Amino acid sequence: MVPKSWRRIIVMGAGESGQGAALLAKRKGYDVFVSEASTLPPEVADNFNNNKIPFEENNHTLQLFLEADAVVISPGISDQHPVVAACLEKHVPVISEVEWAALHTDATIVAVTGTNGKTTTTSLIYHILRKGGLDVGVAGNIGYSFARAVAETSHTHYVVEVSSFQLDHCYSFRPYVAVITNITPDHLDRYQNRYDLYVASKMRIFQNQTEEDHLVVCNDSPDLVAALGRQSPRARVHWFGTASQPVPEATFDKEKLIIHQNHKNTWTMYLNELALQGRHNYYNSLAAAIAAQLLNIRKEVIRESFMDFRGVEHRLEYVATVKGIDFINDSKATNVNSAFYALESMTRPTIWIAGGRDKGNDYSQLVPIVRDKVKAIVVLGEGYSKIRAAFEKVVPLIVPVNNMAEAVKTAYRLGQKGDVVLLSPASASFDLFRNYQDRGNQFKFFVREL
Ligand code: ADP
Repeated sequence: MVPKSWRRIIVMGAGESGQGAALLAKRKGYDVFVSEASTLPPEVADNFNNNKIPFEENNHTLQLFLEADAVVISPGISDQHPVVAACLEKHVPVISEVEWAALHTDATIVAVTGTNGKTTTTSLIYHILRKGGLDVGVAGNIGYSFARAVAETSHTHYVVEVSSFQLDHCYSFRPYVAVITNITPDHLDRYQNRYDLYVASKMRIFQNQTEEDHLVVCNDSPDLVAALGRQSPRARVHWFGTASQPVPEATFDKEKLIIHQNHKNTWTMYLNELALQGRHNYYNSLAAAIAAQLLNIRKEVIRESFMDFRGVEHRLEYVATVKGIDFINDSKATNVNSAFYALESMTRPTIWIAGGRDKGNDYSQLVPIVRDKVKAIVVLGEGYSKIRAAFEKVVPLIVPVNNMAEAVKTAYRLGQKGDVVLLSPASASFDLFRNYQDRGNQFKFFVREL
């Protein structure tokens, strides 16, 4: 419930989250004002004007923030920002856009977080629930903000992807089903280089759950298992994965997924029947199966959904085969762990396009898999010396390039029939690209130009 005294809402940041939050505030009759540090794109400014939402750009007027009843912040803004810090010090409530959205809906929420696999798992759950006949929407970090979804739609169920940044200022958000896909180090730059703070942020997804709710978690993610051991969630916990402890409700072996229903019936599905391939996707599928069963979706529907799910762009996305060389776009692999899974699922000699903005990467865990699978590395943008230092003993050829056109051409030149060229950068894209989508789209463009 929104506190009754809240009238004046400031939305900080005018990206997708901020726009959604402002729109929702306006629809609900609040006195809303948007504050954005840079210049707004004309279409965003027009949209605010059309909706009679006042805003400022290229500036945050501190006084306006301090007079607000609440500030809704976008996930890109950290607590260290001087304006946020000032609000916190003066006890002006600062909440995340996901919290703001959740305060305005009674829908049943399935929320998905984790270091890797969020978008894939969110999309897969959405696909299953829709096929199962539920009135369901998909929103959150996936690109269509939860606040915008609540403002513009009225589904009975939402599948919401939430990042750690979005969880940071959640206080009452209570999903009926929460999924944590895994936890490995990422985004440490936003958490004072403290992994424990990043882990704690992920744990907020279940902080308001009760015995009536469900928490779906991976038993092959040691840091996640350890964190749950320390926290004792109130929700009913459902494990998936391949470790024998904690006992999984859904697992897989070399041949099949094995899924238990209510601890009574078990059903299986052959791995080669799944549309989504790769070990990481078996985990995502297990999580999705448990979540769907908790919403009473029949196994036949889940099975069919697993067969016809089309995957998500920029995640191990097949692009084309040119002269016998396959090109695969995994631009969304923005950290070391996700690149590990991409490399692991390669079955042919691989030319690996990596590199970009380093987030404190430790490449040592990739050395064995790179030795096994990779015949050459093409390093895009920043990070060449670090990548060379990490892999020069196991890969004979490591080539720096300055842009995507050069990366694709170089990889193509190094390849031969039967090889695969994999873009899976293990790094952020901001040195050379607007975002990972731009990076992946450029890759696909230049592959198609070959
Ligand atoms: P997120 O939304 O958490 O960034 P995505 O579903 O977009 O995750 O996948 C991003 C990348 O992470 C994929 O390209 C893939 O290489 C890898 N990945 C996907 N699922 C998993 C998983 N369960 N464990 C580890 N890596 C994964």
